[in-house]
Amino acid sequence: MKFKTKAIHAGQHPDHDTGAVIPPIYQTSTYAQPTPGHHQEFEYTRAGNPNFRNLETALAAMEGGQHAVVYSSGLGAETALFSLLSSGDHVVVSSDVYGGTYRLLAQMKSRFGIDFTSVDDLSPEAFGDAATERTKLFWLESPTNPRLQIVDITAVSKRARSQGITTVVDNTFASPYLQNPLALGADVVLHSTTKYVGGHSDLIGGALITSDAALHDRLHFARMAYGLNPSPFDTWLAHRGLKTLALRMEAHCVNAAQVAGYLQKHDRMKIVYYPGLESHPGHAVAKRQMKAFGGMVSAVVDGSSEKLHQHLGSLTCFRLAESLGGVESLVCHPATMTHASLPAEVRKQRGISDTLIRLSVGIEDVEDLLEDLEKFLKKV
Ligand SMILES: *Cc1c(COP(=O)(O)O)cnc(C)c1O
Repeated sequence: MKFKTKAIHAGQHPDHDTGAVIPPIYQTSTYAQPTPGHHQEFEYTRAGNPNFRNLETALAAMEGGQHAVVYSSGLGAETALFSLLSSGDHVVVSSDVYGGTYRLLAQMKSRFGIDFTSVDDLSPEAFGDAATERTKLFWLESPTNPRLQIVDITAVSKRARSQGITTVVDNTFASPYLQNPLALGADVVLHSTTKYVGGHSDLIGGALITSDAALHDRLHFARMAYGLNPSPFDTWLAHRGLKTLALRMEAHCVNAAQVAGYLQKHDRMKIVYYPGLESHPGHAVAKRQMKAFGGMVSAVVDGSSEKLHQHLGSLTCFRLAESLGGVESLVCHPATMTHASLPAEVRKQRGISDTLIRLSVGIEDVEDLLEDLEKFLKKV
């Protein structure tokens, strides 16, 4: 089966009792046992639920993995994965990483003695050189957030394998439709299903996908033991969203390419970051490892941060909000919003200037999006 067929059929069977084509929301905390200790797969929803299982089956199929575990949020999934580390372990992370990931790593370092090194140069050599004999994980995003840099997943994973290190790819920005890190050699894929998988900005969820059965067991245990489970309703919604992922991503990519092209020619723009632009340094690698270039566009505006502050809320199609990946367009100011938890000097190091904006380009008519941006850019 191919991607769009799997998205609709994997993990989706008519309900046994009623024949309902869409499995119901199993809004239950517990399950009746005919005799003590005997149950029909499920015993308590923190440990498992049919809606979790259905979404896991679908996500594993979408990523080409054997197993998936769903969590309360993307950060819930990260917590599960990091909980497998011990004091003294070390992580190498791409520097342009999600703010919440950085915050979690910083907490683990100061409180639990789990150290990390961020690499600015996203080459496999830089990852390899930053590794020590205590390094357990290479953690990367591609495209990165917010500057949309591209990491060569094949090369980094190969380097990791040669040093006995596990590679984790946060695939949230690309979605399983555009990029499948396991096929490129990574060991674990992470999603904030809050974003493109859900696709409608109406749920919070996360997932980990792997083909390593032993690792899967530990990740499943972590969900149960640390209480990192999602709700049945949120997983049901995420599964519903997943069915239209391919169609939505195609529309996001077409619109984002137009927005990036428009911004690149605009005289109020200093830099436009979009991996689909030929001028983007990661363009060739993106072309090789992604099906298309995604729905995110970032740009440094040639204007004052005061003017940006004054007018960012005045866009009408692009709502000023954190998050991304929904059908509606969003604009975000990373320095004061998604990346505000980073120390100012770290932001500066990473090129997250006060005039950087990040667009999650939605699937509206692109003419309306361009008009909205044009009006805004006139004001700043
Ligand atoms: C949003 C996001 C996360 C965290 O996910 P939540 O569902 O908000 O906890 C992690 N990584 C990336 C790239 C994200 O965009």
